[in-house]
Amino acid sequence: MNIGFISLGCPKNRVDTEIMMALLKKSGHRIVSSLEDAETIIINTCGFISSAQEEAIDTILETGKLKTQGKLKYLIATGCLSQRFGKQLLDELPELDGIAGIASLTAINELVEEVQKGKRIAATGALPELFIEKGPRILTTPPGSAYLKISEGCNNHCTYCTIPSIRGKLRSRPLEELILEAKDLVKRGIKEITLIAQDTAVYGWDLYGKHRLVALLKEINKIEGLEWVRLMYLHPLHINNELIDTIASETKIIPYLDIPIQHASNKILKLMNRHQDVNDLRRLISDLRERIDGLVLRTTVMVGFPGEEAADFQQLYDFVGETVFDCLGIFTYAAEEGTPAAMMDAQVDEEIKAQRFDEITNVQQKINRHKNISRIKSVQKILISTQTGKGLYIGRGYYQAPEVDGLTIVKCKSRLTKGEFYDVQLIGVRNYDMIGELANERA
Ligand code: SF4
Repeated sequence: MNIGFISLGCPKNRVDTEIMMALLKKSGHRIVSSLEDAETIIINTCGFISSAQEEAIDTILETGKLKTQGKLKYLIATGCLSQRFGKQLLDELPELDGIAGIASLTAINELVEEVQKGKRIAATGALPELFIEKGPRILTTPPGSAYLKISEGCNNHCTYCTIPSIRGKLRSRPLEELILEAKDLVKRGIKEITLIAQDTAVYGWDLYGKHRLVALLKEINKIEGLEWVRLMYLHPLHINNELIDTIASETKIIPYLDIPIQHASNKILKLMNRHQDVNDLRRLISDLRERIDGLVLRTTVMVGFPGEEAADFQQLYDFVGETVFDCLGIFTYAAEEGTPAAMMDAQVDEEIKAQRFDEITNVQQKINRHKNISRIKSVQKILISTQTGKGLYIGRGYYQAPEVDGLTIVKCKSRLTKGEFYDVQLIGVRNYDMIGELANERA
C-alpha cells in the first residue's frame, strides 16, 4: 500500500518518523513523498505545548479532507499528541482510523494492518522502560546531514514541561549501538551528525550510573569520513569540565552548542526547577567562551512564566543583552495541563507576555544582524544541501544548526554536489541568512 508521512515537531520526532518509514517499507509498503498518492497517511504529531497541539489537530483535519477528495483511505496519528491524549483523540476526531503512542512506535506495521482491516485502533501502552526508538531509518534530512538520537525521555522535571509525562523518564541508548549507527550513517554519505535528546548532556546516567557523553563523543570523533559532530539540547546543569575539554579538543566536534537557559531571574529559575542561578549560568558561559575557540552559542528562553514581574523580565532582558547569544529561541509560557507551573499563582497576562516576547525578539534581531555582518569577508566551510536555481545553492556553516538557524546562500559558476563541503567567501547578509560566493571562483 502507498503510505505517506507528515512529521511534526522536533528532530527527535523526525527520527521516530524515519524509523517507522523503514519498518513499513521493509514489510512491503511503498513510502510516497506526495500525499495525494497515499492510501494511508501517518501524522507523527507533536503535543508538548498547546500551540503544537493546535497545529497537529489542524493537520489531522486538513489531511482528513483527502479521504473525500483523494485516494486516502486510512489516517493514523502517532507521536506525542497521541501519547498525551490516547483514545480520547480517536473518539473526538472521526477523521482518524488509528492512533499510536510512544511505546507503539515499533509496532506500526501491526497497527497499519489492523486499521486496513477496518478496525479503529488506539495503541497507547505504558511508556517504555528502555530505549526503543532504534532500527533502520529512511533519512528525511537534506544530503550530508542526519540526526542521531542518543536518549529519550527526561528526569529533570522542569515545572512548565510536559515532556517527562509524555516521553517518560530518561532512557539512554547503549553506546556501542550509537557508534554502529553513526558509522552506518557515514557509510551512507553523512558528513554532519547532530546529536539530539531531551537533555543531551545527561546521556548515559540511567544506563551506566554516570554521564557518558564524553565517552560517546571520543568514539564518534574517531569515525573516518565524518566531518562535523553537532550538539543540541544540553541542559546547563549537566555540562562539566570534562565535557568542555572534550568539545574543545576533539577535532570533529564543532564549536556550536545549544544550551537552553530558559530564564535569568533567580526567582523564576527556582520556580522553573532549573537547579541553577544566574551566576552559575554566567560562569558557565564565560568558561565555555574562554575554553572553546570560535564558540557559537544558541539558547532558548521563556517569557511570561507565572510570577514573572517586570523586574524579573528586566533581568532576563539585560542578561540577553549582555550575553550576546549567537542564536536565540524564544517561547511564550503557556499553562500546560498536568504541570506544576499551571497550578501556580500570578499567571501573567497574555498581552504582557506578547510584549515581552517582542522586546526580547528586537534585542536578538540586532545581535543576529551584528554577528552575521561580522562574518562578512571570512571564508567558511559550507555544507551544501539544496540547489535553488542556476548557480544558486543553499547550505549551512558550522554557525547554523539545521532547521532552527539561518542558512547560507551560495552563488557560483561551477556545479556543486549536495551533501559536500565547499569553501565559501561570505559577502553579505539577508535577514537571518548569509550570502556567499565560492572562494576558488573569486578573483
Ligand atoms: S530538561 Fe527539557 S525536556 Fe526535560 S523537563 Fe526540562 S524542559 Fe522538559
